[in-house]
Amino acid sequence: TFLTFEGIDGSGKSTQARLLAEHLRREGRDVVLTREPGGSDGAEEIRSLVLQGDPDRWSAETEILLFTAARRDHLERTIEPALAEGKVVICDRFADSTRLYQGLSRGDLRGLVDKLHSLMIGREPDLTLLIDMDPETGLSRAKGRQGAEERFEDFGLGLQLQIRAGFLGLAEEFADRFRVVDGNRDMDRVAQDVSEIVMTALR
Ligand code: C5P
Repeated sequence: TFLTFEGIDGSGKSTQARLLAEHLRREGRDVVLTREPGGSDGAEEIRSLVLQGDPDRWSAETEILLFTAARRDHLERTIEPALAEGKVVICDRFADSTRLYQGLSRGDLRGLVDKLHSLMIGREPDLTLLIDMDPETGLSRAKGRQGAEERFEDFGLGLQLQIRAGFLGLAEEFADRFRVVDGNRDMDRVAQDVSEIVMTALR
């Protein structure tokens, strides 16, 4: 089973992904917790090429190719082998993030993202948990944490608002696999909702 977490920066999705992994392991499941960009040696190298250094180093199109290359490596080396062994794979961000961050932040490139996706990736998660969060709160959380030197944290409130709306749009577009969870609450309450949704889906 392939589960993904999506949401804006500072939505708490990485924490929720970790809490879900711990919960499922306690239930006796074999879990692989991974993330994007990254999740395999090659993809982690591409992550640093894209997220560090001069934000204008790559054109928008080249950046999409790099994200797609990273995802392909992650899929081949980490995700597909784990799924083939019957494990539960939990991924912090996946193609939906690219549909929004690369698909709309530097012009309307969603068509290109989707074409490359169907050509080179072709897999969608069984279930996507969207941790929906107020963009201002998310932004202040993201700015306050360590590692916030990564370039993408600097997108600002305008983009956070746009991405949040984009995620809610994807939740309608892919209503069969998306579940929206209100992330503006206590971490443990959010985690409880997440485990209920996932346990029902796994049954
Ligand atoms: O999820 P995480 O915080 O690790 O993401 C790192 C940064 O990369 C985030 O600030 C996010 O906005 C950005 N990102 C991106 N495009 C993606 C995935 C992440 O711009 N496809």
